[in-house]
Amino acid sequence: KFNTDLGQHILKNPLVAQGIVDKANIKPSDVVLEVGPGTGNLTVRILEQARKVVAVEMDPRMAAELTKRVHGTPAERKLEIILGDFMKTELPYFDVCISNTPYQISSPLVFKLINQPRPPRVSILMFQREFAMRLLAKPGDSLYCRLSANVQMWANVTHIMKVGRNNFRPPPQVESSVVRIEIKSPRPQIDFNEWDGLLRIVFVRKNRMISAGFKSNTVLEILEKNYKTYLAMNNEMVDDANGSMLETVKEKIATVLQETGLSDKRAGKCDQNDFLKLLYAFHQVGIHFS
Ligand code: SAM
Repeated sequence: KFNTDLGQHILKNPLVAQGIVDKANIKPSDVVLEVGPGTGNLTVRILEQARKVVAVEMDPRMAAELTKRVHGTPAERKLEIILGDFMKTELPYFDVCISNTPYQISSPLVFKLINQPRPPRVSILMFQREFAMRLLAKPGDSLYCRLSANVQMWANVTHIMKVGRNNFRPPPQVESSVVRIEIKSPRPQIDFNEWDGLLRIVFVRKNRMISAGFKSNTVLEILEKNYKTYLAMNNEMVDDANGSMLETVKEKIATVLQETGLSDKRAGKCDQNDFLKLLYAFHQVGIHFS
C-alpha cells in the first residue's frame, strides 16, 4: 500500500507525533507548512494549534486520504493541500515548518527553507539519524562535513529527540531523529553561492590539507574564469594573450593560503571563522567562487 520510493513511512506513535508538533510552539496566529503530510497524523495535530496549515503532498492518494480525514470537521477550512513535488512548489508565506521528511529530499529541503525570502521562525523536521547528526556536527567530529558547515552558517540546529524505526509503518531501514532549525535573522551578510562555492572546494576531501583542494585543474579553471569575469566587471583589462592569467590566479591562491595560515589545515577541523577568514581574503584579491 505504501510507496517507499516516495519515503512513505507513516508515523504511528501518537506520543511522538504530538511531541513533534508541541516542539514547534505554534501560536494561534501561525501559518504552518507541512511537507509530505501523508495520511495526516501530524497534520490533524497541527490543525488544532495553528491558524492555517499548508500541506504539500506529492502522492494524490495520500492527499485524498487526508482530505477525507478532515472532511466535515471544523479543521477542514484551515487546511490547504498543495498537490505536487515540494521542491518544485512555489511556497506561500509561512511562520513554521513541520515535516516527517521524505528522506530523499532532506538536503534540498533544508536549503529551500534557508533560502526563502522570509524564512520560517522555526522548523521541526524528522530526518534519518545520520543526516541529523551531520546537520549538528562540529569541527573535528567524524560526521562534520560541507553540509554541517554550510547549514550552520545560516541556521542554529538543535537535536530534539531520537525516534526508533518501529514507530513507523512500514519501518524504514534506519533510525531517525527530530531536529529544530532556527534560521538566523537577520541573515548573515554573505553571498550564499560564494560561501557554498568555497566549501565545495575545501571539503572535497575533508581530511586533506586545504591547499590540496586548490591544486585541482577543474577548480583552477573555474577560479580563472571567475577572475576574468571579475576583472571585466570592474572595467579592468582582460589581456590573457600569453595565457598568464592562470599563473596570476595560482599566485593569488598561494598568497591567500599562506597569509591566512590555513594552507595546511584540514577542512574537517576548521570552524566558521576559519572559512570566513579564507573567503574574505580571497575576495580581497579578486578571487570569487561563483
Ligand atoms: N507526515 C506523514 C507521517 O508522519 O506519518 C507521512 C510522512 S512520509 C515519511 C513522507 C510523505 O512525503 C509521504 O506521504 C510522501 O508521499 C510525501 N512525499 C515524498 N516526496 C515528496 C515531495 N517531493 N514533495 C511532497 N511530498 C512528498
